[in-house]
Amino acid sequence: MLRQPILLLSRSAQVKRLVTTLPVTSGIVTGYVPGETSDAAVSASRGLIDDGLDVTLDFLGEDTLDAQQAEATVAAYVEVLKALSVAGLTRHAEVSVKLSAIGQALPDHGHKIALENARTICRAARNAGTTVTLDMEDHTTTDSTLAVLRDLRKDFPETGAVLQAYLHRTEDDCRSLAYEGSRVRLCKGAYHEPESVAFQDKLDVDKSYVRCLKILLAGDGYPMVATHDPRMVEIASSLASRYGRAQQTYEFQMLYGIRPGEQRRLAASGEKVRVYLPYGGEWYGYLMRRLAERPQNLSFFAKSLISKK
Ligand SMILES: Cc1cc2nc3c(=O)[nH]c(=O)nc-3n(C[C@H](O)[C@H](O)[C@H](O)COP(=O)(O)OP(=O)(O)OC[C@H]3O[C@@H](n4cnc5c(N)ncnc54)[C@H](O)[C@@H]3O)c2cc1C
Repeated sequence: MLRQPILLLSRSAQVKRLVTTLPVTSGIVTGYVPGETSDAAVSASRGLIDDGLDVTLDFLGEDTLDAQQAEATVAAYVEVLKALSVAGLTRHAEVSVKLSAIGQALPDHGHKIALENARTICRAARNAGTTVTLDMEDHTTTDSTLAVLRDLRKDFPETGAVLQAYLHRTEDDCRSLAYEGSRVRLCKGAYHEPESVAFQDKLDVDKSYVRCLKILLAGDGYPMVATHDPRMVEIASSLASRYGRAQQTYEFQMLYGIRPGEQRRLAASGEKVRVYLPYGGEWYGYLMRRLAERPQNLSFFAKSLISKK
């Protein structure tokens, strides 16, 4: 019930100023973001990999309206991919990229710039021995992101896609993307979306998630089941058995800091589990989406703001 108001509030410049005065070391930020540097990201990755988990790293930043900032983001990805390779972690670590952080929203030729920048990151990932997944953002970017994905897959077929079950269109998108070799992360969706394009009721989103799971798990691609929802995890496991899928022919994904015990329990039972690990200084939008999903955290969050140094 509180999700949409929190997402709306997060767009206020005043709220942003207040929240970003929080030191990154405050519990509420480090609970979701292990640090701001690539060293911190690699070190957190090593810890998770040692525990039997895989990771996907996200250099935080979105809605870039500055070409130089987009280039700096590309450079950060290239740097972290090299660091992961040097650390010998790329068998278990890939990266997730938001196209809006690498130029998609630029007023002139944003789509083309994002495609070229994504190509640079895919090349660096392949050289490092790993892959890229394109995060999905608000519905105004879905067509552009899927078009970039189609172009990228001509040269880098290993590139992963993300689909959001709350969008009415997503069942059709699942059907189009459930082909051999196609890596598809299915999530519920984290943005404030209008009724014209998205289910508003949690139950309807959950039902759509299950319909999409059926299409992806019955299909020939590689489904990546991104959810913390115990019911969805259970349903995905039983659908995988029903469709004769062995463990490791699909994977579960959860966010850093959320249900860490469950992440380890699933991995210990033989499932592949990948943790989405965000890092960097631009943690505001990410943190606000997480708070909107978990209003129980609001009182802890308010205390952090009141007691901030
Ligand atoms: C790996 C990954 C990548 C993602 N990438 C994208 C993306 O590219 N685009 C996008 O729009 N969204 C993305 N998301 C976010 C996603 O869309 C949802 O907003 C988010 O995952 C919350 O939905 P949920 O499936 O966990 O279920 P919810 O409906 O939020 O929660 C269902 C149940 O899960 C459990 N749960 C949820 N959160 C917690 C918690 N903090 N602690 C304990 N239990 C909890 C509770 O039992 C809760 O009742 C991603 C999520 C993951 C896990």
